[in-house]
Amino acid sequence: MNKHYAIIGGGINGLSVARQILLDFPEAKVTVFEKENKVAMHQSSHNSGVVHAGLYYEPGGLKARLCRRGAELVQQYCLENDVAYDECGKVVVALDKEELPRLDAIYKKSLANKVPDVRMLTAGEIAEVEPNCIGVSALYSPRTAIVSYGAIAEKIAEEIQRKGGTIVFGRKVSNLTEQLNKITVHFADQDHYETTFDYVVTCAGLQSDRLAANSGDIATPKIVPFFGQYYVIDENFKSHVKGLIYPVPDPKYPFLGVHFTKRIDGQMTIGPNAFISFGRENYDGKTFNLSDIYDFLTYKGFWKFSSKNMSAALRELSTVMSQTNFVAEAAKYVPSLENVSCVPATRGIRAQAMESDGSLVDDFVIRKQGNITHIRNAPSPGATSSLAIAEYIVREVMTHK
Ligand SMILES: Cc1cc2nc3c(=O)[nH]c(=O)nc-3n(C[C@H](O)[C@H](O)[C@H](O)COP(=O)(O)OP(=O)(O)OC[C@H]3O[C@@H](n4cnc5c(N)ncnc54)[C@H](O)[C@@H]3O)c2cc1C
Repeated sequence: MNKHYAIIGGGINGLSVARQILLDFPEAKVTVFEKENKVAMHQSSHNSGVVHAGLYYEPGGLKARLCRRGAELVQQYCLENDVAYDECGKVVVALDKEELPRLDAIYKKSLANKVPDVRMLTAGEIAEVEPNCIGVSALYSPRTAIVSYGAIAEKIAEEIQRKGGTIVFGRKVSNLTEQLNKITVHFADQDHYETTFDYVVTCAGLQSDRLAANSGDIATPKIVPFFGQYYVIDENFKSHVKGLIYPVPDPKYPFLGVHFTKRIDGQMTIGPNAFISFGRENYDGKTFNLSDIYDFLTYKGFWKFSSKNMSAALRELSTVMSQTNFVAEAAKYVPSLENVSCVPATRGIRAQAMESDGSLVDDFVIRKQGNITHIRNAPSPGATSSLAIAEYIVREVMTHK
């Protein structure tokens, strides 16, 4: 008999998993439950849009493997489905000699991860790639690209429906229960009936810890939301940057740092910074979600993380409080943009898993609990990796006894 699969979450990962099931098992019944009225309303449409080439990730880890495979699959998907893809290239720039050992470590990782065509640039060579950028040395990844993951998600949603899958919108799942190899999906709204499935994959992004824990999986790691603010720079100055200019990441703070990101629609943005968000889904930054705040304030991991990362957090806070400081951070790399005018763009909010000892979980975490599979951590490069995460879940995790 044909198996019935449920996917919880219509972000790029949930949709990719649903598509992969339909590709591998064309007779399967696949239903995606999404709490919003559209696909990709959260992280999948609030990100930098970069197809990461795999520079930073620990060789041998899931991120390294699935990012490389995912980048190839995203490129192929865009080509085959007429979705815009721009191989604009990226430089990771060291501003002083102190940063060189860290830059060299990234270069070595990129070689170990077999990132195509990466090379080091001298100070003089940086200008050949990014004429307005300064630095003592840079790592150049010409194959790093940009896309709209929101547009890809919409294409995948269309494909799922063409292949016979169903996407049910406005349906928030509260928890799952499994008995005698049948999984019941329970909905938050009591009016909605419960349905049973053979397999369920939860891909709930910012809500992933809650859905997993409510369904009997372990309580940690917990999601702690970190927002990232972007600014769009004045149209007249956007040609000062050709592609993507990134700092050497601060090892004390686990995010990539404020960078210049060319957008697939031609805009040039600066961002994202990284600071605790007073709500998992409050993109305007003006509203507070008390239960989300309560969740992280009562988590001992959050306090341990905060005490270890105070100096980096204060630096980030200065970019939150002042647009001038924000732009100044980025203009260290492109001095001609020191006084550029900018307008705020929508924030992104990262679903970052944190252990109870305060460490941020670096690698992807995908856990199997009976016939339920949970994505518990899929931060950046989670969108780049989405089609490969889907292959991994359907072909390796779900089949694992
Ligand atoms: C600021 C920022 C910049 C980033 N930049 C990049 C980048 O340049 N490149 C890259 O590769 N990655 C990047 N990422 C990471 C990338 O965006 C994520 O890894 C990816 O989008 C995760 O997709 P997802 O489907 O797992 O989660 P999401 O897109 O968050 O989707 C989860 C979905 O689940 C739904 N949901 C949640 N709970 C329930 C429930 N109970 N019932 C039903 N539905 C539910 C939500 O409504 C949502 O639609 C960035 C992320 C951020 C925040």
